[in-house]
Amino acid sequence: MLVHVLGSAAGGGFPQWNCNCANCAGVRTGSIRTKARTQSSLALSDGGGRWLLVNASPDVRAQIAACPVLQPGTPVRATGIAAVLLMDAQIDHVTGLLSLREGRALTVLCSAPVREDLSVGLPLFPVLGHYLDLNVVPLPDHGTAFVVAGIPRLRLRTVALASKAPPYSPHRDDPHPGDNLGLVAEDAVSGRRLFYAPGLGAVDGAVAHELAQADIALIDGTCWHDDELARAGITGPKRARQMGHLPLAGAGGMLEQLARFPRPRKILIHINNTNPILDEDSPERRELDRLGIEVAEDGMELAL
Ligand SMILES: [Zn+2]
Ligand SMILES: [Zn+2]
Repeated sequence: MLVHVLGSAAGGGFPQWNCNCANCAGVRTGSIRTKARTQSSLALSDGGGRWLLVNASPDVRAQIAACPVLQPGTPVRATGIAAVLLMDAQIDHVTGLLSLREGRALTVLCSAPVREDLSVGLPLFPVLGHYLDLNVVPLPDHGTAFVVAGIPRLRLRTVALASKAPPYSPHRDDPHPGDNLGLVAEDAVSGRRLFYAPGLGAVDGAVAHELAQADIALIDGTCWHDDELARAGITGPKRARQMGHLPLAGAGGMLEQLARFPRPRKILIHINNTNPILDEDSPERRELDRLGIEVAEDGMELAL
């Protein structure tokens, strides 16, 4: 299995267009040691040349341009992307679908609640249907293995995650299983396994089971502190937990949770621009180094 990290930032990217926090200002001026990042998305392949896009971020056009295997070059109109799998219906994970409208056809795999959100609250599916042959494929129940056409050696299954539907969802205050998913991808030949969970509010029994067995965990690293946006002086912000993200630090936080699982290579992804770990010289980043936890970057390649 091949994994390309197309984007590693949370919604807004890094730097965010309207943000002058220490990190965003620092990356613009070059005054801190860090790298800019686009909004989170992965491409997965079994080595056969076809790719599964996991989420379609608003930065997808630049991400494809930066990842030449996704545009193999022949014939006159073609793509290496076999399908798009959506983990939820959040703006930063789905609106890149609009930038794929020039295709002849598009296969999108998603849960029933996400399909509803993208048909009613944020009606991307009806809009896209005017441009191309849109094939929306319902994901099987959580835990049931499936494959994507063109990528037969990747065994996939989803894990329901505790989080929230987006503000425009018809069931925003009535959470449904399938609003937020994690993804397990296993290479049918090597048997090696990736667990991807960019939006994780709690490490429950199902998530713990996957973390115990994964070879690589690409996991929610959105915020270091629960009140990180307020600390950065951003007014009227929500706490990380209210946004469905378990903060990294503190009692019960993600770092404490990850320490229970010695097996996987641990890589944080979906990093918010306010997170001090983006500064490679920060004490928080040194703490991650000490714990053996990595921070995803755009362009990172993994092989399992
Ligand atoms: Zn996000
Ligand atoms: Zn910022």
